[in-house]
Amino acid sequence: MKIAIMGAGLSGLACAITLEKFGVFPTIFEKRSRVGDRFVNGEALLPIFNRPINDDYAYLSEKHGIFLQPLANISKMNFYSENGQGLVRGHLGFINSRGREDESFESQLFRQVKSEITFNSKYTYEELLQDFTHVIMATGDAEYALNVHNFRVDLTATLKGATVEGKFDRHHVSIWLDNHVAPKGYGFLLPYSEKEAVITIAYPDYQDNQSINLDSLWDRFYTKVCKDLNQNLRITDQFEVNRYIMGLCEYPRLGNTFFTGNCFGAMMPGFGFGQLPSMLTGIYVAHDLCGKGKYEELVKPLRKSYHNSLVIRQAMEQLDNHKLDLIVNLLNNRVSTHILTTNKLNPLKIASYILRPFTKSNPRKSRLP
Ligand SMILES: Cc1cc2nc3c(=O)[nH]c(=O)nc-3n(C[C@H](O)[C@H](O)[C@H](O)COP(=O)(O)OP(=O)(O)OC[C@H]3O[C@@H](n4cnc5c(N)ncnc54)[C@H](O)[C@@H]3O)c2cc1C
Repeated sequence: MKIAIMGAGLSGLACAITLEKFGVFPTIFEKRSRVGDRFVNGEALLPIFNRPINDDYAYLSEKHGIFLQPLANISKMNFYSENGQGLVRGHLGFINSRGREDESFESQLFRQVKSEITFNSKYTYEELLQDFTHVIMATGDAEYALNVHNFRVDLTATLKGATVEGKFDRHHVSIWLDNHVAPKGYGFLLPYSEKEAVITIAYPDYQDNQSINLDSLWDRFYTKVCKDLNQNLRITDQFEVNRYIMGLCEYPRLGNTFFTGNCFGAMMPGFGFGQLPSMLTGIYVAHDLCGKGKYEELVKPLRKSYHNSLVIRQAMEQLDNHKLDLIVNLLNNRVSTHILTTNKLNPLKIASYILRPFTKSNPRKSRLP
């Protein structure tokens, strides 16, 4: 077997680490000059999105021998809507960094990889197919899967974010559910440290969202964050991601090509969480190639989670600000906190089954404008 991995991100590196554990050394091709050479960003792993896994870090190390450290655990989550406020406390998950920094997930995974990485790669998928017996697509986008007609797009999203300086509690995350600042989407603040945080808005690009002026939406969000936090935050760095594709590949494996991470459809459309599913797809390809399972079977639970998450997204999109106020205020209730923090329930799975009959669109149909 001669294996090429296209992309040294979460899924590609997790795949390489797992292959190496079975004594197989792939060649990794990365188009950038180093791992994580993109914008620096704070992301989160929340167990509520990955049930029945309750602690993603413990699961990755104990079950798959992949060792990651977070920036901090999350013990407090504040929710803000137009006129509501809610607070949930408990062990809610972890914050991690992405990008060039030493502690980013990419850098941590890179330090565990022994295989050769060709940086500044210009090799195309077609060229790799000529030279390798197996190609693993791990490029973080659906472009190649779309080119080979193997990807169903459900929605695209716009994301705009900034690194801000201020005073933060490293264990405290804030979320905004307000159609005035993120129509049918959400905003959030994740601290990197006591002095620095990332603030982001994310919303779907539907036709009725097309007339939105992103800059004025951003100004409204930034002003609201400063007001809600009672601070004058200083912006030091900014990023924007347009038409970020969310969808699912039809066939996780086509011949000897495997689709992993976002190329597979790891990004969950409900709230945009894709880190753990991305690493799992990489791990599962390695298991398949080493005779430990069938990729198509191993990814079935991820495909189910994707569909559940799509139902949640469609339900969320039907909520106006008044309903969002009601939901956010309900979060102050002890029962809601228990549901969100207990590891005995999978609230998103339950919610998706309850909501499925009320969501309007057919998940098999592309929802691109
Ligand atoms: C702004 C933002 C916030 C997010 N927040 C969260 C969050 O809080 N929690 C969460 O769980 N998920 C979050 N996600 C989703 C998560 O980041 C992705 O699902 C995950 O990183 C996808 O992993 P991947 O391996 O598919 O791609 P990546 O980790 O992005 O890696 C892809 C790699 O492939 C390389 N590449 C691209 N094209 C080529 C090519 N032609 N040849 C060679 N190499 C190539 C890239 O340079 C990159 O290194 C967020 C995403 C964004 C954009």
